[in-house]
Amino acid sequence: MARSKTGKTGLIFFPAFDWAISPTHPEREERLLYTRDQIFEEGLMDLPQIEEYKPRLAEMKDVARVHFCVPDVEAQVTEAHLIAAGSTLTLADAMEKGEIRNGFALVRPPGHHSMRVVHGNRGFCNVNNMAIMVEYLRTKYGHKRIAIVDTDVHHGDGSQDIFWHDPNVLFISFHQDGRTLYPGSGFTNEMGGPQALARTLNVPLPPGTTDEGIHYVLDELVLPILKDFQPDLVLNSAGQDNHYTDPLANMRFSAQGYALLNEKLSPDLCVLEGGYAIESALPYVNTGIIQAMAGLDYSHVREPDFVPGRFVQSQEMTREIEGTVQHLQEIWEERDALVEGALAELGDFYRRRKRIFYDTDMINESQEEAVRICPDCAGYMTIASSAQRGYGILNSAYCVSLPRGACSSCREDAREEYEEHVGDRKFGYVYLQDKDRDTFRSFNNMTRTQKNY
Ligand SMILES: [Zn+2]
Ligand SMILES: [Zn+2]
Repeated sequence: MARSKTGKTGLIFFPAFDWAISPTHPEREERLLYTRDQIFEEGLMDLPQIEEYKPRLAEMKDVARVHFCVPDVEAQVTEAHLIAAGSTLTLADAMEKGEIRNGFALVRPPGHHSMRVVHGNRGFCNVNNMAIMVEYLRTKYGHKRIAIVDTDVHHGDGSQDIFWHDPNVLFISFHQDGRTLYPGSGFTNEMGGPQALARTLNVPLPPGTTDEGIHYVLDELVLPILKDFQPDLVLNSAGQDNHYTDPLANMRFSAQGYALLNEKLSPDLCVLEGGYAIESALPYVNTGIIQAMAGLDYSHVREPDFVPGRFVQSQEMTREIEGTVQHLQEIWEERDALVEGALAELGDFYRRRKRIFYDTDMINESQEEAVRICPDCAGYMTIASSAQRGYGILNSAYCVSLPRGACSSCREDAREEYEEHVGDRKFGYVYLQDKDRDTFRSFNNMTRTQKNY
């Protein structure tokens, strides 16, 4: 199906009235209500360039295509999560049908801190809306190469984890330096797994970075790399918390800066992530982005307290940003050699251990991940995961994932891994994710029952 190069901008609003971490938590429904008011005030919804869509529920299978939810998908998602994720799928379908040229899912709860294995909520996220949309677009429409640019002030550590080993998904995140902000990761040496080195790129920025610094990163690094990578689709995890009034971070980005970023990046689809300055930033940033997406003049969009020239970047900050960009340019240029070198040093498997902290739910997870280094396909993956809350074991799981285009020997080995752990009392749950067949199976070792999505 041909995507139209001209046409409308699709929007979905889903404020999730009945979902909140707590009533006064910064991630709450008012995040979208003020934006909606501003958009109506600007008359945007009456314009022929804008088309509003109604959200739909994502299916459990759409979630299982990405995540190993422990104990199961039903336990980790509420209706609000399914609607937020489903909204992105509605816009993906509308774009593929040629009804819209691009679209913006203004939904909550957000998703970019949700990793492949899910034991609970981290960084306000349970499931990763962006990743659910990416896997849906690949399964249903056969897209191969996809670029995700994460413009939230926090490192998109969940999206990074999900696409870590995937050379066909370029993930670029710029964010406030992890030494000064949650989740404390996103450094330049986090570059992806051995088969996908430099397809994950992190741009840590000093606190106080202005429009100038962020546009430097965009012009000198992000846009040239996208040109090299030539993705089928450019997707934007659109977090608005780089704004100078955001209460959770310390950056100096403006609504004009965000709108211009969107115009230059020209993403096919945007998915809202964070942004917590409910009245002073979100209505203006989101309005500016929508106008940029629809090809409308956004030059008048300004925060009520905006003073031109108020934020000037120090020379020291500028030098730091230039240094980071140059370093990442070099990594990108060497990407093929990096992969070749890493693979030459590996045997049949690549392994890594990870510790993951769920700040919202106070869960500590430890993982042992193994990827088969296969000459014939991307190789199957296993993850042994155990999660603790306080001093007690919460849950443990053994997860097996078969990539797209898995070879017959990896299919066989993966199936064996699954069968071997069914009945193994070391793990509460065993999972098998088969992306080619689009089937997802889980086994509860305590009740000895199987579930299929
Ligand atoms: Zn954020
Ligand atoms: Zn294989």
